[in-house]
Amino acid sequence: HAKNCGKNNAKLYSSSLTMQIMSHVKLEVGLRKALQNHELYLLYQPQIDVRSTEIVGVEALVRWRHPERGIISPTEFIPLAEETGLIVPIGEWVLRTACNQAKSWQRQTRRSVRMAVNLSAKQFKDENLSQIVVSALDDTGLDPRLLELELTEGTLMDDAKATLVTLEQLRGIGVYLSIDDFGTGYSSMNYLKRFDVRSLKIDRSFICGLPQDSENAAITRAIIAMAHGLKMVVVAEGVETGEQLVLLEQFGCDLVQGYYLGHPASPDVIAGMLQKAGTAALPQE
Ligand code: C2E
Ligand code: MG
Ligand code: MG
Ligand code: MG
Repeated sequence: HAKNCGKNNAKLYSSSLTMQIMSHVKLEVGLRKALQNHELYLLYQPQIDVRSTEIVGVEALVRWRHPERGIISPTEFIPLAEETGLIVPIGEWVLRTACNQAKSWQRQTRRSVRMAVNLSAKQFKDENLSQIVVSALDDTGLDPRLLELELTEGTLMDDAKATLVTLEQLRGIGVYLSIDDFGTGYSSMNYLKRFDVRSLKIDRSFICGLPQDSENAAITRAIIAMAHGLKMVVVAEGVETGEQLVLLEQFGCDLVQGYYLGHPASPDVIAGMLQKAGTAALPQE
């Protein structure tokens, strides 16, 4: 009887593994067609200047409207896109769509808004990256100074010498760079000093326990001090409460992003925020 049990378990395990592989393959097949079937779209999350309370930028965040499964999060399909190399065409589409959107808000609202676009490691290592960035800017007419590319510590530190060359090429185009999810990876301070990066985004995991968590408060304050010492702009991500915002303001944080300031939103919602030029973008207490 016990033997039987084991057998059943093994069988159960292998069938669930098969199912996992099949659903993985199915998702991959679907992702291959997602671009041509127009199933991908972007949402934009506001980045607010703590001192002026104005919206100064947005981050483009991709979504997949799957015909059967509904909306799939990038945390599920971006790793798959990375694995399969599909991230290169998908990333190019994201970049073009985001630049085009920033330009059309500018035409529509007469306000400039910085567009932040996430780049994955594979895109960063792609030898055609500069060319792809230049052509997205040329074709849409977006000022390169309004484009910011977000890279993670892992991407930057993986091959720091090659990174220096790529960063120099990108800075030559005139776009800005930022380090995303800062504090979760391994940064060499020696390289951090040498990389020409405009901003640091403090990872949400440090912000989420604030203001009570004294260790995360100490880390957040230290990251802000270091970034300012290196003449970098600091962005806090994942700001969910007014108390967190107050503390971040006391710490001298420059920009904030999070559900308290605004969820990732459609182009129309962002256009509405931009049209209220000169009015406070921060929620009223
Ligand atoms: P990320 O770049 O760190 O983006 C921030 C994530 O935090 C977004 O999740 C955003 O919706 C979420 N978020 C923002 N504010 C809050 C908050 O107050 N609380 C909480 N709990 N979460 C908040 P999302 O959109 O699911 O994206 C997840 C990750 O997927 C991104 O993390 C980024 O690494 C990746 N990603 C998204 N779009 C793209 C893309 O176009 N290209 C690439 N390569 N990666 C992307
Ligand atoms: Mg990001
Ligand atoms: Mg981030
Ligand atoms: Mg993050």
